[in-house]
Amino acid sequence: MISSARKDSDAAVEVLNPNGAGPAVLLCEHASAHIPAVYRGLGLSRTVRESHAVWDPGARSVSRHLSAMLDAPLIAGCVSRLVFDCNRSPEAPSAIPERSELIEVPGNRNLSDADRARRTETVYRPFCAAVSAVLEARKAREQATALVAIHSFAPVYFGKPRSVEIGILHDSDSRLADALLAQAGGLGSRRIERNRPYGPDDGVTHSLKIHGIANGLQNVMIEVRSDLLATTDERAGTARELLTLLTPALRAVGLASFVNVETLSVDNGMLVST
Ligand SMILES: [Zn+2]
Repeated sequence: MISSARKDSDAAVEVLNPNGAGPAVLLCEHASAHIPAVYRGLGLSRTVRESHAVWDPGARSVSRHLSAMLDAPLIAGCVSRLVFDCNRSPEAPSAIPERSELIEVPGNRNLSDADRARRTETVYRPFCAAVSAVLEARKAREQATALVAIHSFAPVYFGKPRSVEIGILHDSDSRLADALLAQAGGLGSRRIERNRPYGPDDGVTHSLKIHGIANGLQNVMIEVRSDLLATTDERAGTARELLTLLTPALRAVGLASFVNVETLSVDNGMLVST
């Protein structure tokens, strides 16, 4: 059931379970910390190269659990967002940031138009093409589809702790986000908020707009605070929590979902039916 489009270590994108029969298609743009050798580490220290600046820790793992449970295709980036942020328009300065929070990115300074174009063509375009290919194949099969993007965010930002634990983000189409937020009571202990810690004004709904809204697909972006994803058990447990929101939300917006979350438990970093 699972296949991968990854062809070599510098491939920009991987597609898992491309023919999944469930109603969701998962995106994980910031899944990887990999910086291809040609970029010489972007001039970053080893510490920075292992930090949240270069990727969303835990997001790929959560996405894989969701992909397995929802039988959902998963399109995940394989190159660091500091090389190119696939959740940004190529025209946006933040697509190739010279600075990320408190971190300077020397390898992104003074880029020529050709440098920017090369990154767009080798990282962003393949990612978008992979998403489009999955969505077009589902359209040809007349599979109803919702787009769900999975991210993680740092617990401290510019020195300030963030209290929100799970963010439900949307742009102009809030139907699926509304349905998820309506389920928040099922995770009573979690602090779940709309369009936090980011929202459409921060430019983070690029993928939702071009792959979801432009194709008439319901869509949502889920941001999980990364300290909830530190261990394999926590990543599986968080995936279960997200299924507690997603499964009834997908049903509520008219998309069949057959996951029985009540029977799922975490066992050695895996989600298993009991
Ligand atoms: Zn992210």
